Amino acid sequence: MAEQDLYKVLGVEKDASQDEIKKAYRKLSKKYHPDLNHEPGAEEKFKAVNEAYETLGDAQKRAQYDQFGSTGGQQGFGGAGGFGGAGGFGGQDFGGFGGGGGFEDIFSSFFGGGAGGSRRSNPTAPQQGRDLQYEMTLKFEDAIFGKKTTITYNREEQCETCGGSGAKPGTSPVTCSKCHGAGYIQVQTNTPLGRMMSQQVCDVCHGTGKEIKDKCATCGGSGHTEQSHSIKVTVPAGVEEGQQMRLQNQGEAGTNGGPYGDLFIIFRVEPSKDFERDGATIYFKLPIDFVQAALGDEVQVKTVHGDVKLKIPAGTQTGTTFRLRGKGAPRLRGNGNGDERVTVNIETPTHLNKGQKEALKTFAKASGKSVAGNGKSSLFDKLRGV
Ligand code: ZN
Ligand code: ZN
Repeated sequence: MAEQDLYKVLGVEKDASQDEIKKAYRKLSKKYHPDLNHEPGAEEKFKAVNEAYETLGDAQKRAQYDQFGSTGGQQGFGGAGGFGGAGGFGGQDFGGFGGGGGFEDIFSSFFGGGAGGSRRSNPTAPQQGRDLQYEMTLKFEDAIFGKKTTITYNREEQCETCGGSGAKPGTSPVTCSKCHGAGYIQVQTNTPLGRMMSQQVCDVCHGTGKEIKDKCATCGGSGHTEQSHSIKVTVPAGVEEGQQMRLQNQGEAGTNGGPYGDLFIIFRVEPSKDFERDGATIYFKLPIDFVQAALGDEVQVKTVHGDVKLKIPAGTQTGTTFRLRGKGAPRLRGNGNGDERVTVNIETPTHLNKGQKEALKTFAKASGKSVAGNGKSSLFDKLRGV
């Protein structure tokens, strides 16, 4: 059917008017209607006629079809005006196109038969299962270094008793008696343009095209059962708050033999009492006293990779930031690590003993300044030289 010329299906010329196309469609759809025509192959022809009319009966879709030709995949996309109109592409969540399932779905819905073939709502086509979300909370360090873990959640899985068919073992679903397996039914409606045929999902089989006489006792005919599902997850090093990871086919079971949906893991990262992080950069506040700042020192600084030595040069001001190269978090999509930025905070001593006080007074004297010494603020204002 993929290679069929839609004009030939309806038996009209390529330059036929819309009116001629409509007349041809009416004639042929009546001729091959499954309720009226029980000859072998009639049903296939009926479907083909409907499909051809779906494209040629719509001026816009017809123009697209004319432009893209009538062969192979081109036809699929030529007729894809039909997908757009029916919300096939537009209406689907793009994230749902996992691992090519989306394209399979499109192709099967176009080529897979059924007069509603080019509609997204072709319910007999395999449909990928729903995507699921899983929120994973990580310790600050685990987000930086990654980890292996196992997660468990509930999901709809294919019923093991019936293999997803929904029918009692030993029986199989039969073709729906109302829609003859098409999954949809034709409904006539009166519009200002005349009587129009439209399609609705079959209310007997709910669009599956199949009726289950003896339902599977395990799943009650749905073909799915809710199961607890465990998988191993490798959290990549360097993930950040709010980032997502997709695991294909770890979502819910599809219908009509369609693939499983995907699982989206959303990472939540707990704060650290020592560090702050922005991407690959880690921020750390280092308290030092004013003697270290004034005379210089070598100190131990905390990093997520362990303590490292940092030289504080003499005369360091509060708020000065030092960079420890490569001591930050790994870059998710790059090489190596970011940096740790160490910001120095000079702490003023609050409880001075007698000896310390004397020493500071001596210091002030040596600086050529007189210090009253009865108010801390004046002393330290002077020490700071402000
Ligand atoms: Zn079952
Ligand atoms: Zn039906």
